[in-house]
Amino acid sequence: MAIRFYVLYPLPSSKEKMSILGEVVSYVEKMVLLHIGIDDTDSRQGMCTTYVGAVAIRRLEQMGFKLRGYPKLIRLNPNWKMKTRGNCAIAFTTSAKKEQIPIIKEIVLKTVAELAELHVETTNPGVIFYQGSRITEEMKAFSKKVVQDIATIEEAEALAKKVGAEVHKFKLGRGIVGALAAIGNTLENDWTFELIAYRTPENRGKPRRIDRSSVEEMNRKTYPSTFDNLDPATGEIRITPHTPCPILYGIRGETPQAVKKASETVKALEPIEQTIIYKTNQGTDEHLRKVKIAEAKPNWSVIVEGTVSKAPHTIPGGHVIFRLKDETGEIDCAAYEPTRQFRDIIRKLIARDRLRVYGGIKEKPELPLTINLEKVEVLEAAPLFRKENPRCQRCGKRMKSEGKNKGYSCKRCKTKLPAGSEKIIRVKRSIGAGKFEVPPRARRHLAKPLIREIVG
Ligand SMILES: [Zn+2]
Repeated sequence: MAIRFYVLYPLPSSKEKMSILGEVVSYVEKMVLLHIGIDDTDSRQGMCTTYVGAVAIRRLEQMGFKLRGYPKLIRLNPNWKMKTRGNCAIAFTTSAKKEQIPIIKEIVLKTVAELAELHVETTNPGVIFYQGSRITEEMKAFSKKVVQDIATIEEAEALAKKVGAEVHKFKLGRGIVGALAAIGNTLENDWTFELIAYRTPENRGKPRRIDRSSVEEMNRKTYPSTFDNLDPATGEIRITPHTPCPILYGIRGETPQAVKKASETVKALEPIEQTIIYKTNQGTDEHLRKVKIAEAKPNWSVIVEGTVSKAPHTIPGGHVIFRLKDETGEIDCAAYEPTRQFRDIIRKLIARDRLRVYGGIKEKPELPLTINLEKVEVLEAAPLFRKENPRCQRCGKRMKSEGKNKGYSCKRCKTKLPAGSEKIIRVKRSIGAGKFEVPPRARRHLAKPLIREIVG
């Protein structure tokens, strides 16, 4: 009999080992897996789906239910106009004996009903329960669609029915789309982690109190295993949101250990109700797809290669626009005002520069399709030349042009030279091949920071 050795690569963390062990235990004990997805519980006025998830998880754990792996925070298509504030959905997996499943469902549904901003018209929560050990390829494809494109409530309902998932809609129940997508996203290719600390109810809506120097120290100690803690140009703290949501701070990083260690350095100057670590598609570029210009569509986020066909110019509002072309067409690219110093890099581009651009396309029927730049890679900077008038061969003075194609003359000694006597000088460009990104303050949740490419 042949003995086979299976090598798990990358080597499982202790948490993953526990999860593998857990699968064996649940098989023995006839436990069932329950995947739970939640979305669209927040509004511009408050709440956050990550908090609803954190409370539901805490309540389940207090009753003795255990989570399988890390809960997931899945960011959805950032270009969609119907999106909620941060457009994130959450999902987590628990295992329980069959007869306990109804209790779990009840706790989750009650938590959503209690915490969701149901009084706000645009908040339409959805909860999905999926009892199955396998996330099907179709569920994964649906998840990808919701991150990169748009899916309807009807599509979500049809897929849920097909795979036998249970659908709970609050009001219009638009959240079932993200809830099902969060379950279906298995974070197989790339992922990051975020540790989120929540405020106690009496502090929500008030200015966040956090010791600034402790955040700087945390960044010094843990960057780049954590990232986007500070904006390097302005020194602005980026771990605290500016919305009325219950989050005090969120630390993003490569591993659960890194974000946990980082949080131990951060001094909060107000009480923390609870913390949670989510595994997430933030900072992974999962929203992007490589396309030719003619294929680009509103609501997509794209990677396009092309040549600058119209040099950058600044429009009212401080936005910088240029045009890019490939063999299929042309498209506008924009570095909007909030991208600040990134615009200075874009302004250095000239016609004929070869680029790879990354960014989202918002649906704006009144305007030509425009890529809202997240990153630019200069593949090849075009050579730039400058004409220089010749020097007078007799007295050495720089000669003056007599007009287009009329040659040159020396003002001092009246010597003349014919047209074509000028020197063509190649000018050193102030930008060369390389990758450039918007600052953290303007970065999309899903956009992969360049530092992750360098380190990872
Ligand atoms: Zn002269």
